Amino acid sequence: MTIRRLPDLWFEPLPWIDGRWHPGDERFTVRNPATGEQITEVVRADAALVARAIEGAGVAQRAWRETSAVERGNVLKRMATLLEVRRDELARLLTAEQGKPYAQSLGEVQYAASFFQWFGEESRRVYGRLVPHPESGREFIVQPKPAGVAGLITPWNFPLAQGAKKVAAALAAGCGCVWKPAELTPLIALAVGPLLREAGVPSGLVQIVPGRGTVVGGVLAQHPGVAVLSLTGSTETGRTLMAAAAPGLKRVSLELGGNAPFIVLPDADLDLVAEHLTRLKLFVSGQVCVTANRVFVHADAEMALAERLAALLAAARVGDGLADGIDAGPLIHHRACAEVGALVTEALAAGAVKVAENRSFDSDPALRAGSFFAPTVLAGVRDDMRVAREEVFGPVIPLLRYSRVDDAVRRANDTPYGLASYVYGRDLAQCRAVASAIDAGIVGVNEWRPLKAEIPFGGVKQSGIGAEGGEEGLREFVHLQVISTPRPVVVP
Ligand code: NAD
Repeated sequence: MTIRRLPDLWFEPLPWIDGRWHPGDERFTVRNPATGEQITEVVRADAALVARAIEGAGVAQRAWRETSAVERGNVLKRMATLLEVRRDELARLLTAEQGKPYAQSLGEVQYAASFFQWFGEESRRVYGRLVPHPESGREFIVQPKPAGVAGLITPWNFPLAQGAKKVAAALAAGCGCVWKPAELTPLIALAVGPLLREAGVPSGLVQIVPGRGTVVGGVLAQHPGVAVLSLTGSTETGRTLMAAAAPGLKRVSLELGGNAPFIVLPDADLDLVAEHLTRLKLFVSGQVCVTANRVFVHADAEMALAERLAALLAAARVGDGLADGIDAGPLIHHRACAEVGALVTEALAAGAVKVAENRSFDSDPALRAGSFFAPTVLAGVRDDMRVAREEVFGPVIPLLRYSRVDDAVRRANDTPYGLASYVYGRDLAQCRAVASAIDAGIVGVNEWRPLKAEIPFGGVKQSGIGAEGGEEGLREFVHLQVISTPRPVVVP
């Protein structure tokens, strides 16, 4: 079996501030979750360094906002190209620290590049408008202006793409950024620093500060030099950050947790459903905010779907993402395995049935210290079980029976979350009607990966505030100013 190597690192495991690496005393260890091996140690940015990063970004931003939209766009598009050119090294690094299979990491690099490309094009379309005034001789100019410096906080499940979505939108809008990656996956963010410079991003405009969430987040939330805070993370962290930002009344954009329903309508093609569900739940081993958490299936079809899922799961390979032909990697750490395991154990004790699991990783002694969790199908799950009520960050497919479609929709909406959802069926009119009735930011109809750079993605209810992608993603980093002015008069 071929195992890919970690690439030679072209960056230092240090905070990246004002275009150079900053040594420090406090370090933390980054491990490969498939093997438990240490990759390197990274220096944490302390509060003083974060403040310095914010101030440096402010200086760089004052020059950047004066560049033309086309110039900014060209820099972003060059970054998209660089990500594509370096995709193999980036994907190997991403897999080594995050665990997802190499092919999925390649997909993430391309997905990240698509945001630099999209916002590189969008930067020239940040239009204002001229509004007729109710009084004669005057007019209103509504002009979008860059908000200033943005504090960007990202999670470990898509550590490159989540950063790319925010950095690209902020730069396109004419903002500077201070980016705090998750402590479990800081390397891919640090790897981006020199690439941004190569693409033409001026020194200081994007500062990358690994560190503790509470410390870095606290400074970003309180420092007057930060205009916008954008977090992708758990709902709990969203709440904490919003409270920390409240005294300064800072604008927040929050992409938080989900508990996505997946409604299988009675006429759905069960082979297609099983194939897509398996791919969705093996994708990053189910550690995805938009993964399907509750599969509502008609009672008559539950066992037929369970059998198809079991067959597909049995054929999958769970192992080291750096090896060839792997369908699912490890979970991020052993604590995550214990948390998902507890949800499954509780569900089984409450009457759910384990239909299938895949423990193919057990046969590889090199993975003994890895944090693997067996992809599992559970039938007979009820709404009151914790596995159906909480966000499950693991490869568990819980099947919940329904007998009436309107009841399935009501139960799908019975959650404080509203991020993603899925509807599968052959009657597209019924699919559309059900999709519209679901309270969620996005619905995939017969599609398991609806997210793209072209569309705004964001949650409702406790899944978030604001959007990423689309033209709306850029607007998160723009303030509107209205100038009420006399109309120029043509001299007779
Ligand atoms: P997390 O909330 O623990 O951490 C996210 C980031 O916030 C990390 O960088 C962390 O260091 C930082 N952080 C932690 N405490 C903080 C604080 N008090 N102030 C400021 N920053 C703080 O989330 P995670 O475990 O890294 O990621 C998984 C979660 O992210 C899941 O709930 C998932 O649904 C969510 N997520 C949402 C989306 C989306 O687009 N809606 C995408 C991916 C992940």
